[in-house]
Amino acid sequence: MKNIKVSESILNHVSDVIEDSRDELIELCQKLVQTRSINPLSAGVDTEAELGGEKRCNEILRDVVAPLGASIDMFEVELDRTNLVATFTGEGGGRSLIFNGHIDTVPVGNFDDWKWGNPFSGKIEQGRIYGRGACDMKGGLCAQVMAAKAIVSAGFRLRGDLLFESVVGEETMSHELGTTAVIDRGYLADGAIVSEPSGPPVNLAVEPSSCGLFWMRISCIGKSTHSSVRWHIMRPGGSGSKIGVNAIEKGVLILNALQQLEQQWGITKTHPLFLPGQFTIHPGVIEGGPAGTPNPYIVSEYCQMDYAVWFPPHENSENVKKEIETYIQKAASLDPWLEKNPPKVEWMLHWPPFNVDVDFPLCTICAAAHESATGTSAVFQGFTAVNDAAYLNARGIPAITYGPGSILVAHAVNEFVDIEELMIAAKTYAISALEWCGVVA
Ligand SMILES: [Zn+2]
Repeated sequence: MKNIKVSESILNHVSDVIEDSRDELIELCQKLVQTRSINPLSAGVDTEAELGGEKRCNEILRDVVAPLGASIDMFEVELDRTNLVATFTGEGGGRSLIFNGHIDTVPVGNFDDWKWGNPFSGKIEQGRIYGRGACDMKGGLCAQVMAAKAIVSAGFRLRGDLLFESVVGEETMSHELGTTAVIDRGYLADGAIVSEPSGPPVNLAVEPSSCGLFWMRISCIGKSTHSSVRWHIMRPGGSGSKIGVNAIEKGVLILNALQQLEQQWGITKTHPLFLPGQFTIHPGVIEGGPAGTPNPYIVSEYCQMDYAVWFPPHENSENVKKEIETYIQKAASLDPWLEKNPPKVEWMLHWPPFNVDVDFPLCTICAAAHESATGTSAVFQGFTAVNDAAYLNARGIPAITYGPGSILVAHAVNEFVDIEELMIAAKTYAISALEWCGVVA
């Protein structure tokens, strides 16, 4: 197989072992989906009630890897937020590899909206396993575990170490409890594959980079008065801002301006691994009204708009901030009230992008492994959201993303993962590990 030095007989053998483990892979994925592990820090959930789910799932995974001779480290930075690291120590003389994924999921919404009235069913329909976390990303973790298991049970000994990490906290960007905590504990490697779902646009694509993300908050102030005098504060001939100003309508001016900037980004912000138009300025939450009372008879005093800003991996994050702030300032300067009372811009969170060179050997090996597993060539594309590969890269571990499923169904009702994709992913991971770490002849 192109770019793969490991002998064809070894590849065939490991693929056969994975093929024979199909039922085990499916059952493991079902069991993990049925074991609720909603991130306890998710907005709107009962933290106490959700604590322990991540730990229970990682105990299930531990019971798969421990009998394979891996050394097991289960540890937590916060009570019952337990990470799992399983190390398959190599024979020496090869590169080390991390398989990384997160075990926490987002919340589920209304049970009734889900097939079978159950977000944790793990049921199979038309070759898909359904339930929260199926593709984001218990499926990916299962495929990685089964890849490691296949290598061991086929009797192959890797030269470099293979580390399997199932971490907590990704969905709330709590990387200091999960992926970064694992790095701080001393687990480093020459490369990493994060098994987040590759799609869209193409499932099971090799992803050397991701978007960067900001949570941006914009606040506008107004001036309250009785809403019956609206005519007085907005019509020609009235008293205008001497009497009152509607903060919501000032917010809308900024909202409209940012939609224009977003349109421009569709043309100006491009990256070879992303489709045109990928980089966006998304208004997610808007709140406004009179201070302290949601009362429509009072003119609004405040408007707060929370945005998710998705920017290209190669752009400097400070420059992106400056670009948006300058645009807001210019838009505000066209309005007498906003000119005197400029909107406040706060940067609440920043999830950095990652950007590994497409020629980096782990990318080409993963692509060749995919080709070997499927008989078709791999697609290279950017990861359209953000993931923990950013924090691995930030600490000097080149990390890419490749995994079953699509972000199009992640975080959604009736999330699912396709069983065929699980199988292909497991084979690709196993072949990648054999090739990257080297195998004792
Ligand atoms: Zn995820």
